[in-house]
Amino acid sequence: MGVPLVFFLSLLIKRLRAFGPVSSPRRVALWVPAAIGDAVLAHPIAVDLAGQFQNSKIVLFLGVTNKVVAPLIAESWAVVPELAGRLEIHTLEAKKPLEALWKILNLEPVDLWLDFGQWPRMPAILTAMAKLFRKAHWTVGFATEGQCRHFAYDSLYLHRSDQHELENFRGLAGALGIKSKSFPSITTDVPNPSPVSPYVVVHMFAGGSKPHLKEPEHTQCVQWIDWLLEDRHVFLTGSSENQLKALFIQKRTKHPERVHVVAGSLSLAQTASLIRGSQFTVSVNTGILHLAAAVGARVLGLHGPTSIRRWGPVGPLGYADPRIRSLKSPLPCSPCLNLGFDYGCPVNRCMQAVRLEDIRNFTQAW
Ligand code: SF4
Repeated sequence: MGVPLVFFLSLLIKRLRAFGPVSSPRRVALWVPAAIGDAVLAHPIAVDLAGQFQNSKIVLFLGVTNKVVAPLIAESWAVVPELAGRLEIHTLEAKKPLEALWKILNLEPVDLWLDFGQWPRMPAILTAMAKLFRKAHWTVGFATEGQCRHFAYDSLYLHRSDQHELENFRGLAGALGIKSKSFPSITTDVPNPSPVSPYVVVHMFAGGSKPHLKEPEHTQCVQWIDWLLEDRHVFLTGSSENQLKALFIQKRTKHPERVHVVAGSLSLAQTASLIRGSQFTVSVNTGILHLAAAVGARVLGLHGPTSIRRWGPVGPLGYADPRIRSLKSPLPCSPCLNLGFDYGCPVNRCMQAVRLEDIRNFTQAW
């Protein structure tokens, strides 16, 4: 029903397109419906839009899976004089469409609305609703192959599978004639929660669709942690749902007393601070990897189904940030993911093929 609905809405809003986008928007909305990593990667586009429209307010909508980034983004804006006081952050959850529609109906109208959702149709439908009810004057979104959601928007950017997602996000601003050049950068003054030093952070739990396919086996984690423990402590991060798995891994290491399970017990800002104070971080490709890169930490990303070119971590210094390293699975089928759900098989053989020796080679100079 999604495709006919998007198409029907596009017919209803067609005549509203006659007016075109305003040149000096007062309120510019960015909706990042899901994923911490997407929120981190979309953040520089918000900064660039604020730079382009200096009298505008930026309204950032996040979903339930990425609203935890809100305090970090708010803190990053508060310390920049040109940005301070210009950001509003709200939750808009596409998976609860009636609640989201109610919020949209009660919204102070925005002049520009950029939808960062790449493939789900519900954000496109709700964006068209915002237009229909005159809550969004001009809307921008992705035309994504096979997803039939592009009818919903006033301006389009063709989502590309051969470039980094940051460049796809920049394309939304580009559809409005705005050049986006900033890179992800997150700052926080939250104190480092670690009582020990030196230490590394290990993040082995992924998010999104079928997260287990992006994760290594427990036995691999134990082997890697045992090596990392030779001359330091290890912090195991994750969400509260990952806590039991983290404890399971901790108990099997040679020195569990030096493995600190903080999965589920730290806020995202505390995790960012912990990562920034670490010798380095090793993470699977998930939101924490992008956050670690954005706070300027040394980080090694482990990539199985995920493509480094499409979803590699990017830091404040750009794609060639020397603090960021990426290790790809040696299997020829890796990577297989484009949009985030389109796995090539149901088994994590690619992650099982990542060896301790490779991790050692990538991190030993740190
Ligand atoms: S097809 Fe290959 S890269 Fe994709 S999930 Fe399976 S093993 Fe991993």
